[in-house]
Amino acid sequence: MALRVYNTLTQTKVPFEPVVPGKVGMYVCGPTVYSPSHIGHMVGPVIFDTIKRYLVYLGLEVTWVVNITDVDDKLIIQAQKDGTTVHDLAERVTRDYLDCLRALGVDGIDQMPRATEHIAEIVAMNKGLIAKGYAYESAGDVYFDVTKAAEYGKLSHRDPEELLAGARIEPSSIKRHPGDFALWKSSKPGEPAWESPWGPGRPGWHIECSAMSMKFLGERFDIHGGGLDLVFPHHENELVQSESFTGVPFANYWMHNGLLTKDGRKISKSDPGTIVLMSDLLKAHAPDTIRALLLSSHYRRPIDFGPNRLAEIGRGLRTFERAFERYAERTGRSFYTLVAAPRREPFEPGESPMLREIAEHRQLFLDAMDDDFNTGGAMGELFEIVHVLNRFTDAGQAISEGEYQAGMTVLKELAGLLGLFTSPAERAAPVRDALVGPLLDLLLELRNRLRKDKNFALADEVRQRLAALGVTIEDRPDGSRWRVDTEP
Ligand SMILES: [Zn+2]
Repeated sequence: MALRVYNTLTQTKVPFEPVVPGKVGMYVCGPTVYSPSHIGHMVGPVIFDTIKRYLVYLGLEVTWVVNITDVDDKLIIQAQKDGTTVHDLAERVTRDYLDCLRALGVDGIDQMPRATEHIAEIVAMNKGLIAKGYAYESAGDVYFDVTKAAEYGKLSHRDPEELLAGARIEPSSIKRHPGDFALWKSSKPGEPAWESPWGPGRPGWHIECSAMSMKFLGERFDIHGGGLDLVFPHHENELVQSESFTGVPFANYWMHNGLLTKDGRKISKSDPGTIVLMSDLLKAHAPDTIRALLLSSHYRRPIDFGPNRLAEIGRGLRTFERAFERYAERTGRSFYTLVAAPRREPFEPGESPMLREIAEHRQLFLDAMDDDFNTGGAMGELFEIVHVLNRFTDAGQAISEGEYQAGMTVLKELAGLLGLFTSPAERAAPVRDALVGPLLDLLLELRNRLRKDKNFALADEVRQRLAALGVTIEDRPDGSRWRVDTEP
């Protein structure tokens, strides 16, 4: 395989070889659901969604897991402030997160496990780590003893001695070493709690990801992803506790995306000017513009986000829309109904000068993606292709309808790998959704109550009448969803 990926563990770019030939397991750390999604929450999902699209295009069968941390100190504090329960807060914020993913075309996630639904697996890991001497119980908490694992620090490339010295010293004597981290935390009265051999408590953050990734992907899997800010301590701790527990290597490739900045400033809750809520952003900008911005540089670099950059990207995407309009005018066909090859295959341009130029840029696009998923480079080639198409379809050029269609189909194929221009109206007309979305959410909620009350006849009628209006309701194990079907 020509694909090479940068591995944080080895700090080198290496050929990509799956643990099981033909299959890929990928785990990406998801959100702690205590506040509505801002643009920073979307960076990882959009990047790893694009990575999955490319791996599938290479013929690999990919299972992608993103967890939801639905119990944590931040949730407890926020729920108290809002006068609600941790559960209800988590449900509300998770729904907002899923809406944002859907809007941005992040549709490749196969499993979204919630921490509170995996307490048994987490308790079992705690027990195993204690039995092997890597962890200890203290005052109802369980801690990982960082001095017991010789390789602690190998992901973040820090000296274990330095890690111990640099650890935040908490005003407590319950830990053996300041760098020891919590695997299980005892609960105070009124806080969410589960029974455990160490008394009522809740999981530590790091162990959730170890337990849930292994449950869905096995002890050893291919890609573990997340933002650069998670390398230490979160991923370092996940890695050390997982390998201590299983005795085998955990994830093969650790991939970290660069962080978002807003007009050059780090995104931070303590700098409110940097927090841009997705719900606000989606009212004002087409989702493709937001997605294209997040993919416009190499994923390991910082991404700068701001009004000027958004406007620039939006103008760039108009070039494509004009090309689609021109194609529709000339041929009576829609770009969106073109069917592109779902897998990577050679493209034969024949004798057509236009298709030969397009074939060259297509190759450069694929080379960029093979080089550690350089989406910024790939997007540059997409612009080259649309310029070639525009040049050759200007008045006076003699190209056949077959050539025209073949060229546009290459554009469809490559844009689809980036998750761009996948549907015409739904993702390009966000303003309408400001009212329609909440109304449909309300209808869905009422219909769910009907189903709970076993009034299936009326619930079915609601579904059928919405279907007649072009709204599809899908009942899935993790809840019901609606979708507005748009005419091609
Ligand atoms: Zn994690």
